[in-house]
Amino acid sequence: MQKPNMIDAKKRNQHEINYTKYDQLKDKFGKNKKYFVRTYGCQMNEHDSEKINGMLESVGFKKTESYEDADIVILNTCAIRENAHDKVFGFLGVLKHIKDTTNPDLLVGLCGCMAQEEVVVNEILSKYKYVDFVFGTHNLDNMLNVIKERLDTSKKQVEVLSYEGDVVEGVPTVRDSIYSAWVDIQYGCDKFCTYCIVPYTRGKQRSRKKEDIIEEVKQLKESGFKEVTLLGQNVNAYGKDIYNDYNLANLLSDVADTGIKRVRFVTSHPWDFTEEMVDVIAKRENIMPYIHLPLQSGSNKVLKLMNRRYTKEDYLKLYNSIRKKVNNSSITTDIIVGFPGEKEKDFNETLEIVEKCKFDGAFTFAFSPRENTPASLMKETVSEEVKMDRLHKLNEIVNKYSNIANKKLEGTIQKCLVTDVSEKDDNKVCGYTENMKLVNIKGPKSLIGKIVEVKIVEAKSFSLDGEYVK
Ligand code: SAM
Ligand code: SF4
Repeated sequence: MQKPNMIDAKKRNQHEINYTKYDQLKDKFGKNKKYFVRTYGCQMNEHDSEKINGMLESVGFKKTESYEDADIVILNTCAIRENAHDKVFGFLGVLKHIKDTTNPDLLVGLCGCMAQEEVVVNEILSKYKYVDFVFGTHNLDNMLNVIKERLDTSKKQVEVLSYEGDVVEGVPTVRDSIYSAWVDIQYGCDKFCTYCIVPYTRGKQRSRKKEDIIEEVKQLKESGFKEVTLLGQNVNAYGKDIYNDYNLANLLSDVADTGIKRVRFVTSHPWDFTEEMVDVIAKRENIMPYIHLPLQSGSNKVLKLMNRRYTKEDYLKLYNSIRKKVNNSSITTDIIVGFPGEKEKDFNETLEIVEKCKFDGAFTFAFSPRENTPASLMKETVSEEVKMDRLHKLNEIVNKYSNIANKKLEGTIQKCLVTDVSEKDDNKVCGYTENMKLVNIKGPKSLIGKIVEVKIVEAKSFSLDGEYVK
């Protein structure tokens, strides 16, 4: 049994990161068995789940849409906020009921960021004894061995490393979409924002080699994918750990050169975002003009307490440069309210920046202390009631500007990559504009998989209605 240790997880030791190839298991021990994977949290987790699905299918497991029907259920978890924890523990309760009643042989596994937390694993070991296996984010590629060991020995398996594993290429992947693909460009994060647990659960930054990324994009293009989204916690720091003279601007250029129709990237950190990067985004037609640029707070005092490494003036300078140089850009953000020490005045400064920037959208959060992070040791000065009140005020302004940004598109022609039948209406299809607005489109299903011109006829709060033009 190897349990996580948050003190070790904090260390940035100098051990060499190996770049290796995935070792495919020959034993088809999943034959005639069904799997169900539930994913919580960010895009990185969604993409990890595509790898989990791929590995399971490589040994014979088949996907089922119903956990009641499954032989193995894996929860790929998120640790960012307390409510993410609560959802996972709630679902574990449901699975216990299934094990107690209809399917005592059901295998239940937990992985992802919660599995990297010492308190969570201790709680699982003492209170959730029916969980069969736990593995962490650093050894995802070893998942099948962990499951096999559980099956062979009938003993609970816990294998969570508190240091980074290798960068493993060629992990089998079953992608959710056949048109738009996630592509990891880096793992981990070295920024240590004081509220954030990611640098502990995902380890130090490890960039993938540029050749491997470009090759993956070329293969995706050949297989018919129209869009790639380059993924990392802080994509603007790409390459800093392995190259002296190659950065995100270079990578974006090289990925654009593959000729794939659309290139996206998330998440950006203002501190590492250079003008060179803005210029590449502005210049290259197949790099999409959508940027998620987390602000977190509009108060310099709070930004410092958060260890964000930029001031609101730096943020605004970058923001204005993107708006000026990148045509038809849309910019969204993340904001936390109720950080320890945030006074009414600080919160008002956040509102001021939101009023200035008129973001296309924002993910807004109430501060939630995370185990062992510096902010969890700061004295909480904002009551839950005040946090909720601030969140409510902030959301009203965010929604106002999001509506205004959507309204501006009414009557315009937008290029959309059509990916699916609309969730709202079976007779419509849906897709995203270049600047990442969801459009429900009146048009035939034969449009799915194509990039088409769409006239925007009506803006709704969280989506647009459009008609196929050509
Ligand atoms: N790497 C990205 C960045 O630098 O902004 C995103 C990381 S995190 C997965 C997504 C968002 O969750 C953060 O931008 C932040 O707004 C929010 N978040 C992270 N930790 C939080 C906490 N302890 N309490 C509330 N919100 C938090
Ligand atoms: Fe967390 Fe900050 Fe790293 Fe984003 S940049 S993952 S918020 S530590």
